[in-house]
Amino acid sequence: MAQEVRGVVSLEKGKPVSVETIVVPDPGPGEAVVQVQACGVCHTDLHYREGGINDEFPFLLGHEAAGIVESVGEGVTEVAPGDFVILNWRAVCGQCRACLKGKPWYCFNTHNATQKMTLTSGQELSPALGIGAFVEKTLVAAGQCTKVNPAATPQVAGLLGCGVMAGIGAAINTGGIGRGDSIAVIGCGGVGDAAIAGAQLAGASTIIAVDRDDRKLEWAKGFGATHTINASAGDPVEAIKELTGGFGADVVVDAVGRPETWKQAFLARDLAGTVVLVGVPTPDMIAPELPLIEYFGRGGALKSSWYGDCLPSRDFPMLVDLHLQGRLPLEKFVSEEIGLEDIESAFDKMHKGDVLRSVVVL
Ligand SMILES: [Zn+2]
Ligand SMILES: [Zn+2]
Repeated sequence: MAQEVRGVVSLEKGKPVSVETIVVPDPGPGEAVVQVQACGVCHTDLHYREGGINDEFPFLLGHEAAGIVESVGEGVTEVAPGDFVILNWRAVCGQCRACLKGKPWYCFNTHNATQKMTLTSGQELSPALGIGAFVEKTLVAAGQCTKVNPAATPQVAGLLGCGVMAGIGAAINTGGIGRGDSIAVIGCGGVGDAAIAGAQLAGASTIIAVDRDDRKLEWAKGFGATHTINASAGDPVEAIKELTGGFGADVVVDAVGRPETWKQAFLARDLAGTVVLVGVPTPDMIAPELPLIEYFGRGGALKSSWYGDCLPSRDFPMLVDLHLQGRLPLEKFVSEEIGLEDIESAFDKMHKGDVLRSVVVL
């Protein structure tokens, strides 16, 4: 029988979100209903509300979540009721050309639940990133549930479902950071700090945090930054070079996603170094103009990182285990715990840079 639960919906572009009654159908073939325990507030949720993703209102917001599987539909074997899971927004298909080439983290045909959750009027909801988790229970494709060690708290585990995974993955999966490498991270919000934490985990010996906000640079030190640069105090490219023997960093992560910061990343890396773009640009932004010889002469790689090039089944359980061993301080990302009715004020704090993550606890 379909269930009625409370959830946070963006009904209209640019308007404050509201808590509404959501109708969650029983899981069909390949689907699961998950009792959400915690869900982080991400910039992408605000983006949906602003109409910056698409116009398919109303949206059921929230997508950085962990919870307990309540029920599963026909044919579901990967998870069972009672499992503690992190929700992921890239359930790989196993059959597309990327999957068949053995690179499932690029999967071009990721899937979501087939049935729709609705308002009580019957109006269908568009779940944020195919999840929709600012809600007591949500319907997802079973492949979107990744089982992890239940000893982790849901507040912390859920963060791996989006921003924190994107950042860690940008450093270790896309950037390929390893022992003794140098890395600079431009933009020290949740994603940038996660890249710093990932670099520390992988054994980078020089970890440079770059931001314009001293408060954020202080947070970055807590995740393993060995040096900090306030970009408003001078040219960050020169400052990064100074800290790396005059050469530049092996990997520079742009966690902001603007032409200016990408150009800084391009210029602040060592010869044959790697640029990783993980901050998401807006459609109107144009790549900076640079002499083509600079692309050739500097060599190396210019990469983008989708969701940290993660493979949820490989990365989520591993990162949860490392956290439980005290090697990955995920708890430091949780700035505050809030309720479903507090999303608007959380958007406000996020916008002002007052928090790394507000996490809804249900
Ligand atoms: Zn997100
Ligand atoms: Zn695929």
